[in-house]
Amino acid sequence: MNIMVTGGTGFVGGALVKHLLAEGHQLSVLSRSEGKDSPIRWWSMRDGRFPAESLNGVEIVINLAGENIGGSRWTEATKNRIVSSRVNLTRQIVAACRERRDAGEGVPQRLINASAVGYYGTDEKATFTEEDGTGRGFLADVCRRWEAEAEEASLLGIAVIRLRLGVVLGPGGGMLANMDRPFRLGFGGVVGSGRQWISWIHRDDVLAVIDQAVQEDAMIGPYNLCSPNPVTMAEFCHALAARLGGKAWAPVPAVALRLAFGEMADEMLLQGQRVLPKRLMERGCRFRYPRIDEALAAIYQ
Ligand code: NDP
Repeated sequence: MNIMVTGGTGFVGGALVKHLLAEGHQLSVLSRSEGKDSPIRWWSMRDGRFPAESLNGVEIVINLAGENIGGSRWTEATKNRIVSSRVNLTRQIVAACRERRDAGEGVPQRLINASAVGYYGTDEKATFTEEDGTGRGFLADVCRRWEAEAEEASLLGIAVIRLRLGVVLGPGGGMLANMDRPFRLGFGGVVGSGRQWISWIHRDDVLAVIDQAVQEDAMIGPYNLCSPNPVTMAEFCHALAARLGGKAWAPVPAVALRLAFGEMADEMLLQGQRVLPKRLMERGCRFRYPRIDEALAAIYQ
């Protein structure tokens, strides 16, 4: 298939592009910088404008681009970039599809759009599936707006798959890259109360589900992309410590995180959500890494 990936240089996108190339697909990648790797076709959006001509012949768009969410304190400027890099880019992609349709040119068959389990807001007690509505908070708002822009493509006859990703675990990036250093050095500790939920997924399972969405046209609508076994932050930190040969002994107090990271700490570190991949389970999806200890063992082997 002829596939365009936005965010194809990122932690998920980079691995996905390699995987899809190995599967024999034709790939183009949209990036803010000039890519050199061949046989990928690179498209630049340095001026923030989506190049409509990049959609020539594209059958599937996989939209993963977005300003890093967990990297730093959310200033107003950071929040604007988090929103616009998702909402505005998705709007531009759909507008380019609309122009093509109006000009009698072909449009992609499918838009596979990233979103996040943050869509549901945060809660210590509830369990969320795709049947639940959106929650409150900055991330829930971003996800809702991002998905709404993507969903506009369905009015053009494009099948829209909305993947609500959990915390993606894998080597060399994502949450673990920010978190595992103190655990490696033996002084990692449980973050906050430890009761907040982490709905996580191994990156290989993300790639496998996206692969299915590329191959089958039966997938449509929202899918929670997280393992069937979410864990609490305490369980996660103990599993990480055990894997890296120590104990999670020094708690990381909420007040220190709030001081350092403000609102970002509250939504991303100190609160979470318990989300189940109901629709994937109904499809009989078999996760390669359903349990946290198995996932961490594979990452830190
Ligand atoms: P990364 O941060 O690793 O990569 C995202 C890519 O988006 C970058 O490679 C970059 O590509 C592009 N990008 C970054 N900032 C901007 C910007 N301001 N404007 C336009 N493009 C930008 O993300 P992941 O691979 O980890 O995640 C992929 C998607 O999945 C993201 O949208 C993320 O929000 C979502 N997600 C990820 C989770 C995770 O745990 N990793 C959890 C839940 C959702 P370039 O530099 O080439 O332009």
